[in-house]
Amino acid sequence: MSLLFVCVTALRVCVGGCRGLTQLAELPETHQILRQTCRDYADRELTPVAAQLDKEHTYPRKQIQELGAMGVMAMEVPEELGGAGMDYLAYSLAMEEISRGCASTGVVVSVNNSLYIGPVLKFGSEKQKKEWITPFTTGEKVGCFALSEPGNGSDAGAASTVARLDGDEWVLNGTKAWITNSWDASATVVFATTDKSLKHKGISAFLVPMPHPGLSLGKKEDKLGIRASSTANIILEDCRVPVDNMLGPRGAGFKIAMQTLDSGRIGIAAQALGIAQASLDCAADYAHKRKAFGAPIGKLQAVQFKLADMALAVESARLLTWKAALLRDSKKPYIKEAAMAKLAASEAATLCAHQAIQILGGMGYVTDMPAERHYRDARITEIYEGTSEIQRLVIAGQVLKEYQL
Ligand SMILES: Cc1cc2nc3c(=O)[nH]c(=O)nc-3n(C[C@H](O)[C@H](O)[C@H](O)COP(=O)(O)OP(=O)(O)OC[C@H]3O[C@@H](n4cnc5c(N)ncnc54)[C@H](O)[C@@H]3O)c2cc1C
Repeated sequence: MSLLFVCVTALRVCVGGCRGLTQLAELPETHQILRQTCRDYADRELTPVAAQLDKEHTYPRKQIQELGAMGVMAMEVPEELGGAGMDYLAYSLAMEEISRGCASTGVVVSVNNSLYIGPVLKFGSEKQKKEWITPFTTGEKVGCFALSEPGNGSDAGAASTVARLDGDEWVLNGTKAWITNSWDASATVVFATTDKSLKHKGISAFLVPMPHPGLSLGKKEDKLGIRASSTANIILEDCRVPVDNMLGPRGAGFKIAMQTLDSGRIGIAAQALGIAQASLDCAADYAHKRKAFGAPIGKLQAVQFKLADMALAVESARLLTWKAALLRDSKKPYIKEAAMAKLAASEAATLCAHQAIQILGGMGYVTDMPAERHYRDARITEIYEGTSEIQRLVIAGQVLKEYQL
C-alpha cells in the first residue's frame, strides 16, 4: 500500500473524528493513523537527511513535494480547492512528527499552511482562493508571509512599508525582514500601510507573486538553526500589483496579521514539540547505551532526573498544544491557549535540547549526533511568531480580561 494511499485515507476518515473528544488522554483512531503515517514518513525520509540539509542549507524540495502529495502542505484547505480538508489537531500532529525528523522542513510546512494559506483561506474572495491557494497545495509552490521589517518585529503595528494607489494598481515601497521561505516562494502576503496617520488601522494586506517586477530578495540569512529553510529580506521598490490583490478590506491588515499569528502559534508549538521529542528520544536512547563506571548512565539518578524533567516538559506542552488546536477546531476562543502552547513548547524544546547535550556529554557537542542540531533549531521557536515575552503579554492580557469586573 502506497504512502499516499494510506495518508489520504487517514486524512479523509479523520474529518470530524475528534468531535466527541472529551479528554486529551488519547487521540481518536483516525488521528492516530495520520500521526503514525507522518511519523513513518519522517523516520524514512527526513531524519536520515536532516543533518545534511542543515549543513548544506538545502531547501528540502523533494520532501516538500512528497508532503504536498500527502496533503500535508494544505491541511485545512477544503478538498475542492485541492487541500486535505482536515482540522487543526491533525495539522498539529503532522507538524510535530515532521519537525521531529527535520525542524527546517517543519517551518516550510508551517509557513505555507498557516502564515500564507491561512489568511487567504480566511479573508480571501472565492476568486483569490482559487488563484492563490490551489497551486500552493501540492508542494510544487510555497508561499510566505511578510510582516516584520528591519525597524520593527514585535511592534508590527509600526509598519513603514507603504502602499500608494495609482489608478487601478497599488504601488508598494519598503523592506520586509526575516521572511521565511522567501528564496523558494512563488507568492507572499505583504503588509503595508495605506495611511500612516491611522497607525495600525492604516495597514492593509496584499498578495504579491514571486518573482515580480519591483520585488527583490536580500541575502540569505546565515542562521543558527533551521538552516535548510531560507530567510531573507524582501525589498519592494515601486512594486505594482492590481487593486484586486488586496486581501480583505482596506485597513484590515493588522487584524489579518494578528489572527493569522494566533493560529500560526499552534503550528510553531507543534514544531517545538517535535524538536523537544527528538531531543528526548536521542537522550533516552543514549542513556541506555552509554556506560560509565561499569553501568549504563541511565542507571544514574542524575541522568534519570534530567530525563524526567524532559518528559514532563514534552507531555505538558503536548497537552497544551492539542488543547489549543481542539479549541480552534470547535470554534471556541483559543488566543490564550495558543500563546500558552507556543510558550510552553518552545521552552520545552530549549530545555530538552540543552539537557540532551548534557546527557550525551562530548557526543552532544559534535555533528555526529543530532543533539547539537536540535539545540540550534530549538532557539528560534522562542523568537518567531511572537517572542516568549510577547506570548506572556498575550496570556496576561487574556487573564486580566477574564478577571475584569
Ligand atoms: C529565522 C527567522 C524567521 C522569521 N520568519 C518570519 C516570517 O516569515 N515573516 C515575518 O514577518 N517575520 C519573520 N521573522 C521575524 C520574527 O517574527 C521577529 O524576529 C520577532 O517577532 C521579534 O522581532 P524583532 O526581531 O524585531 O525583535 P524586537 O521586537 O526588537 O524585540 C527585541 C527584544 O525585546 C523584547 N520586546 C519587544 N517588545 C516587547 C514588549 N512590548 N514587552 C516585552 N518585551 C518586548 C522581545 O521579546 C525581544 O526579546 C523571523 C525571524 C527569524 C529570526
